[in-house]
Amino acid sequence: MDILQIFRTMEYGPAPESAAAANAWLDEHGREFGLFINNEYITPRDAQYYPSYDPATGEKLADTVQAGQQDVDAAVAAARQAFKIWRETPGLIRARYLYAIARNIQKHHRLLAVLESMDNGKPIRESRDIDVPLLARHFYYHAGWAQLMETELHDYQPVGVVGQIIPWNFPLLMLAWKIAPAIAMGNTVVLKPASYTRLTALLFAEVVAEAGLPPGVINIVTGSSKAGTMIVTHPDVDKIAFTGSTEVGRILRRQTAGSGKKLSLELGGKSPFIVFEDADLDSAIEGVVDAIWFNQGQVCCAGSRLLVQENVANRFIHKLKERMKHLRVGDPLDKAIDIGAIVDQTQWNTVDGWVKIGVREGGELFQPDIKMPEKGCFYPPTLITGLDPAAQTVQEEIFGPVLVSLTFRTPSEGIALANNTRYGLAASVWSENINLALDVASKIKAGSVWVNSTNLFDAASGFGGYRESGFGREGGKEGLFEYLRPAWQERPRPDFDLSEATKGSSNWGTHTPSRPSMPTNGKANSNLSPQVDRTPKMYIAGKQLRPDGHYTRVVMGPKGEIVGQVGDGNRKDVRDAVEAAHAAHTAKPGWAMRHGYNRAQILYFIAENLNARSNEFARRIRAMTGRSLKSAQAEVEKAVERLFTYAAWADKFGGRLQETTLHGVTVAVNEPIGVIGIACPDEYPLLAFVSLMAPAIARGNTVIVLPSEKYPLSATDFYQVLDTSDVPPGVVNIVTGDRDHLVKTLIQHEDVDAVWYFGTGEGSYHVEYESAANMKRTWVSYGIKRDWLGPEQGAGHQFLHEATQVKNIWVPTGE
Ligand code: NAP
Repeated sequence: MDILQIFRTMEYGPAPESAAAANAWLDEHGREFGLFINNEYITPRDAQYYPSYDPATGEKLADTVQAGQQDVDAAVAAARQAFKIWRETPGLIRARYLYAIARNIQKHHRLLAVLESMDNGKPIRESRDIDVPLLARHFYYHAGWAQLMETELHDYQPVGVVGQIIPWNFPLLMLAWKIAPAIAMGNTVVLKPASYTRLTALLFAEVVAEAGLPPGVINIVTGSSKAGTMIVTHPDVDKIAFTGSTEVGRILRRQTAGSGKKLSLELGGKSPFIVFEDADLDSAIEGVVDAIWFNQGQVCCAGSRLLVQENVANRFIHKLKERMKHLRVGDPLDKAIDIGAIVDQTQWNTVDGWVKIGVREGGELFQPDIKMPEKGCFYPPTLITGLDPAAQTVQEEIFGPVLVSLTFRTPSEGIALANNTRYGLAASVWSENINLALDVASKIKAGSVWVNSTNLFDAASGFGGYRESGFGREGGKEGLFEYLRPAWQERPRPDFDLSEATKGSSNWGTHTPSRPSMPTNGKANSNLSPQVDRTPKMYIAGKQLRPDGHYTRVVMGPKGEIVGQVGDGNRKDVRDAVEAAHAAHTAKPGWAMRHGYNRAQILYFIAENLNARSNEFARRIRAMTGRSLKSAQAEVEKAVERLFTYAAWADKFGGRLQETTLHGVTVAVNEPIGVIGIACPDEYPLLAFVSLMAPAIARGNTVIVLPSEKYPLSATDFYQVLDTSDVPPGVVNIVTGDRDHLVKTLIQHEDVDAVWYFGTGEGSYHVEYESAANMKRTWVSYGIKRDWLGPEQGAGHQFLHEATQVKNIWVPTGE
């Protein structure tokens, strides 16, 4: 082709990146790798190897070890040994190690990028300009936190040995998101890369060793999902950090239930990409290209559901199809390629299977007539229009270069469609009207919302999901808490024997209602005056309602005397309470939409009204518990103080500006979780009740509280305090009865977003296990008592953290 022809066609020429250095590195190792433990490759005796292929060529790149139980044990032991020293290593020293790693990543930038593209199939343009720079950025950012931990996070300690399991779509980036915060906070790690992509994790391990990191701080174990299970179930692992599919996330939630291990789950998504009629359509088209064809659409937060406002939809789809005809699919090592190879043939088959389902569901398929490579795992950019919002292809994650498109008429319809998913990872909003864009951003239920942009990531901004996209954040200050526990708290070691749970014979949470109790025991009432039943009812939607079953429970005093009765709640009462809490949450304006100032005033008012009746409450506590009046008075005083504390926090925990690399504004908003079910302990029946309820409602959640089962009367007395304090109906609902029976209904309820359970080790197991069904957030006590009176354990940041989830809204500014 001569120059004239090039000018006429504007055809791209080949721009190949050399694979020579990566191949040389593979050859140096004989294309065979052991496990990376204690800063060296270990080849287990009788090692089983399995191959890793280049998906673009189908050629074998190398073999790595399939780890077994002994290998996982060795890696965990190395991490445990290293933890003893690493946790005591001064923050500045840890910072310097992270900094050294970052510098070494930059030194080996090109090698890392080329190997990543060969192993995964992603275009070199992306691995070179996005994955590896972000890898370095994460270590720089967290080097800073390693140093600042001593002053900024002195109430916290590292969790211990962390097991980390990552997917194949961003092998290096996912590794950085996991390892950098973990080791910055003084933890040591055992990381398992995905089976399709494990080579760059090993190259990274060498980079780490070159930086001189003490042996055992980072260990890389290759292997299948079986090795993953070995890490997850290992008794000496204190925390599991997982990124992958929601299905596997559910398995891990169940496997770790009741064990006291911390868990963070970064799961799947089906993120909306919403285009309003006033959007800059050409920019939005480029946005779509980035949203769904970046990394072949194998992106958890890919904008895979295109929602376009009806009156621009035809024009937009026409432009999009034109643009698709110019996408270039081909050799990942060609620098002028837009779309590389799908990671593996199995994944290719899955994607293709989904496209066929989409067509069967009535969708109209568009795949541009572009040049495709003759061999290798390549899939064309694909658009499916005309689907029903409930179609499987609209609802399920395809994880490939496949975009489905729907239309909407009004902003509220657009928001409803955007939220019509079990996921909640990310969203993209396109409009030139800043009021509209930010309003929509605030109403979408997702962890990241990009305004007039998409797929923006930075170490300074937390990333993670709502709903079935998981819980926990990676990046930002918010992400650090996944690798910390309060300084006062040791790793919970529940007394409950987990093997009991797996026998399937548990009758936990089953309950037979007692007959209506007769405190006079059938004898005639001797004092001749009529005895009116004063059994407190349930408190639901701001009303006192009789329990559905019309049964009551007797509340006994310390000497076995009867001090009162309460309703014996059942599933129906819990369901009514959830409905009321939900209505209060979503009503216009819902509790969450009220100003913090308004919520603060209501909490102050509750405090004032409780204070006015403090003697009455103290006497009630004494009657139920047998504690001295002085001790009961101290409890009431503390409860009043707690209400003041959370009134204070009601307008001071809204979020902050994140200092990302974006030219514009990235705001982290601490949003409420939604509807929270709270099961209170028996200790300090009023104080624990208030300490849990107050932070939840202060931060905009609505609650269903199950008060102490043994001492419920201070909670039922509290109805009148709520009634006189302007608390809107449904914000606080109280159901008395058998705590474990009632919490079982709460944890199984689809409309409950989180459950806090302060009860037995066995109950904690069940709550965590059952939460996997819709990935509720949980906070459980594992049967370990806390000091509710103390400022560290009875109040503080942990309570606010549990009451909120962070949404990051990215707003680029400028031309
Ligand atoms: P996956 O099948 O869930 O696997 C993820 C990792 O878990 C791999 O290392 C896998 O090992 C391992 N694994 C599989 N089954 C396991 C088990 N029972 N116990 C322990 N470990 C197990 O997911 P994937 O196909 O690799 O990745 C795609 C998914 O990741 C998508 O759903 C995507 O949305 C999600 N993702 C989420 C984020 C986020 O930040 N939210 C980021 C990236 C990807 P093997 O590879 O050996 O099977």
